Amino acid sequence: MRRSRKNAVKKKKKRRKFRLKTYVFLYFMVVVLFILVILWVFQYFFLPRYYRAAKIRDVSDVAQKLISGFGRENIDFNARRMAFNNNMFILITDEDGKDVALENNLGNYSVFGKDKEINFGKTLYQFRQKLQSADSDHVTSIVTNDDFGSEEVFYCQKFNDGGSSFYLFIEAPIEPIDSTVDIVREQLVYITIILFELAFIVTVLISHRISLPIEQLTETAKKFGEGDYSIEFKAEGYREIEELSVVLDDAKNEVKNVTDLKKDLIANISHDLRTPLTMVKAYAEMIRDLSGDDPKKREKHCQIIIDEADRLSNLVNSILELSKLESSNTELDLSSYSVHEQIEDVLKRYTLLIEENGYDISFIPDEDRIIRADHDKLSQVLYNFINNAVNYTGEEKHIRIRQINTPKAVRIEVVDNGPGIPKDKLKQVFDRYYRGGKVKRETVGTGLGLSICKEILRLHEFAFGVASEEGSGSTFWFEIPINQNDNE
Ligand code: ADP
Repeated sequence: MRRSRKNAVKKKKKRRKFRLKTYVFLYFMVVVLFILVILWVFQYFFLPRYYRAAKIRDVSDVAQKLISGFGRENIDFNARRMAFNNNMFILITDEDGKDVALENNLGNYSVFGKDKEINFGKTLYQFRQKLQSADSDHVTSIVTNDDFGSEEVFYCQKFNDGGSSFYLFIEAPIEPIDSTVDIVREQLVYITIILFELAFIVTVLISHRISLPIEQLTETAKKFGEGDYSIEFKAEGYREIEELSVVLDDAKNEVKNVTDLKKDLIANISHDLRTPLTMVKAYAEMIRDLSGDDPKKREKHCQIIIDEADRLSNLVNSILELSKLESSNTELDLSSYSVHEQIEDVLKRYTLLIEENGYDISFIPDEDRIIRADHDKLSQVLYNFINNAVNYTGEEKHIRIRQINTPKAVRIEVVDNGPGIPKDKLKQVFDRYYRGGKVKRETVGTGLGLSICKEILRLHEFAFGVASEEGSGSTFWFEIPINQNDNE
């Protein structure tokens, strides 16, 4: 199993992909080639056909103009103008073959013209017959002029005007465009060469612009992978890469923070583990060697061992709890209940502390409200906040739990008048394993309490935070959004 995975990794490594530059170049070339092929196909194969179709369209346009103006405009003038402008032979005859208008702009070149002179309109008559057997009201033919070997459009249409029928004949040469086609083709060769060179230059520039910043980021990432956190992910050129470098830089800072915190953790945890273990060992030895026979001392020493064991299990429990909360499969057990009930329930646990150690812990309530939350988890948050306040409060031992109702939420604040938290550390207190510098042995914690609170509040999607003034105390708070319906 393991071997096959190794082989797969090897294979993955072996099958090297092209560089980004190569891909960009290849794609660009494919596009250029595609454009060129289309250009060539159109110029080489379709240009003469297209030209012919355009000519037929012209002839038919002229015919429609002549027919629509027939009877209303001066037909002789119209025919002359059209014949002259479009280089055509135009003939309109009545049903009997008598000329109504005749305009020959083609001279001797005209097949129809010659037919009229030499054959007395025999070809024209045949063409008229062809029209009669056709389905449509006009016929168009492309014929080769026997005398000159060039192509021409012959057009014949029957139309009615004022109760009589008329025939319109048009002959138009399709001028040879060989020389034009040759010029276009020659130009196409130049265009192809220029386009290829241009494509080459542009792809080199584009791919350089795209891949250079990526290469820079890769270099930086390599150093980062080797554990150099002094690097800075910085790449410019286009928005995506700039965004990527910002994200990578943020990730790097996060990793750096976590690494620093982990280092602290190892120092803290090993200290926290070692101290109780040393105590457990020392007191156990003491019971064995000295106090075993003295019940009073033995009990006292046993109690110390139990306390220290509790401390150890607290630490281990906190670590487990946090990793469970962070493992994303934690589900909240939501229910609706009174906020007063929750706070009073938590405060019950502090009765002993208040009575024996002189702490002044008071609840300043607002109007009771029904909240929706995971009761046990929210109690845990309150415990953590209050425990911290107890641990870090000043000599006055004064702690307030304040309920403030706002239109949309219930805000709970735990206020102490302890030493406060320096401004630059405020952001870190909710971080895992963060512990303030001067922590007394009695207030030994795990550095995990607030991160557990953070995870619980995040799961609930409650806003939370801390405000603190150095020297005058801290306020840890969270806000429970309320459902109006529950409170009506
Ligand atoms: P700990 O187990 O160390 O209390 P927490 O995550 O609960 O861990 O708190 C992290 C750190 O935040 C504490 O070590 C302390 O420096 C600081 N802190 C928390 N609550 C208070 C408070 N009420 N007053 C001053 N500092 C506090």
